[in-house]
Amino acid sequence: MTLPEKVYVVDHHRLVRQLDTSFPRAAFAGATLDRLFTGGDFDALDPAVADRILRFNRELLDCDCDARPYCGHPEEKLCRWILEERLDGRSPEAIVDAMRVTYHLYAYPADVVNFLDDAIRRLDALADLAEVNGDDAQARLAADLGHGLERGNHPS
Ligand SMILES: [Zn+2]
Repeated sequence: MTLPEKVYVVDHHRLVRQLDTSFPRAAFAGATLDRLFTGGDFDALDPAVADRILRFNRELLDCDCDARPYCGHPEEKLCRWILEERLDGRSPEAIVDAMRVTYHLYAYPADVVNFLDDAIRRLDALADLAEVNGDDAQARLAADLGHGLERGNHPS
């Protein structure tokens, strides 16, 4: 399973009860995107929670694809957001906390660690490949980004 499949809605049971509907706990499941994140009437919710859900809608579901919200871009945008948080110096635990207050989502820190490790491995492989192909600039870019994710800071 990829990381987005292991990202969940915070307080799922309470939301289902307050909104009087049903959707799974998995944030990127079709019914969750349809019934929670594509909008609706959130008057029954705590305003702070409603804000987070609307932010998910605004920032992760903002593409114009015909297949939206099933086009894969929402998942991709969350992955990019996590990588940016890491480059900004946040630990996996801090990223999980930030995910909660930003988008009302949570994941297990161990899954975030695996996701970051996997990204670093891919960048290493990309750097090696670029080097074999004689593309030094590309190799350096991938290597620097990998180091940035490892150390938690932006490539210089
Ligand atoms: Zn899209």
